[in-house]
Amino acid sequence: MSFSGEVKEELGDQLSDARHCRIAEAAAILSMCGSIMIDSNDRYSIKIHTENLIVARKCFTLLRKTFNIRTEISIRRNLSKQNTSYWLLVKKHEEALRLLQAAKLLTQEGDVLEELSIVRNTVVQQYCCRRAFIRGAFLVSGSISDPEKSYHYEIVCSAKGKAEQLQKIINSFEIDAKVILRKKSYVVYVKEGAQISDLLNIMEAHVALMKFENIRILKDMRNAVNRKVNCETANINKTVSAAVKQIEDIRYIRDTIGLENLAEALKEVALTRLSYPEATLKELGDLLTPPVGKSGVNHRLRKLGEIADKLRQNKEVHYD
Ligand SMILES: [Zn+2]
Repeated sequence: MSFSGEVKEELGDQLSDARHCRIAEAAAILSMCGSIMIDSNDRYSIKIHTENLIVARKCFTLLRKTFNIRTEISIRRNLSKQNTSYWLLVKKHEEALRLLQAAKLLTQEGDVLEELSIVRNTVVQQYCCRRAFIRGAFLVSGSISDPEKSYHYEIVCSAKGKAEQLQKIINSFEIDAKVILRKKSYVVYVKEGAQISDLLNIMEAHVALMKFENIRILKDMRNAVNRKVNCETANINKTVSAAVKQIEDIRYIRDTIGLENLAEALKEVALTRLSYPEATLKELGDLLTPPVGKSGVNHRLRKLGEIADKLRQNKEVHYD
């Protein structure tokens, strides 16, 4: 099962103790994937659509235990798309009305809010209810990527207003959710590992949170080790390429004017470098008699470099 599936399975089995939180969760579900039908006699019925059995089961339980509404379920298998659609129906007008009123999805005049938008909805005033709202929204139209691969959390909304409201609710927990237009949907997303971890906590997916954090810690450690290795490799490469250049210079001097024409101190460094191409400056210095410090060795090597450069340009050379 995907990590997203695991999170949903965990959330699907939960039911808040507080009625206000359950109402908030139901409001999120209705807002995200509910639709309202009004017949010619002005009577309401509600349809909730999902392709996830866990979500269908959760909606069914939530509506029964919170509002004492028994929804009818119809199932449709789509063989070409290889998926199954679940439709939960609240057929009775009185029950539909009761549900919409509780979820504050009706205007004061009793009309259905446009697009079931939860803008200015009072069901999300309390923190506990906002957590439930995010949980409901994630269950029906969210997904989270496998933390082994990448950090990505998103909830797809059908309208801009809904996405912005959801973004505001999520960001009230000091998270930096963003909204992007994808085809015809508005996607609320978070891409930062620590913030996704916070979101799992907010949604109360505690088992998934533990798993997520374990993977995140391992990944951080792996990255830290890789960074260190890369850094050391870079330093080694730097030392090696400097040494290669020094040896080139020394050989050039040897093949033109000969090392014996160099001052004694330079000649000694040149010969030692040729014998120990991989030695660091400090190691080279220790090999000289008497030993010379790192900066002294560096100075002499630079001098050799200058001599080689001048020889290449056929300039007058002072060998000392
Ligand atoms: Zn609450």
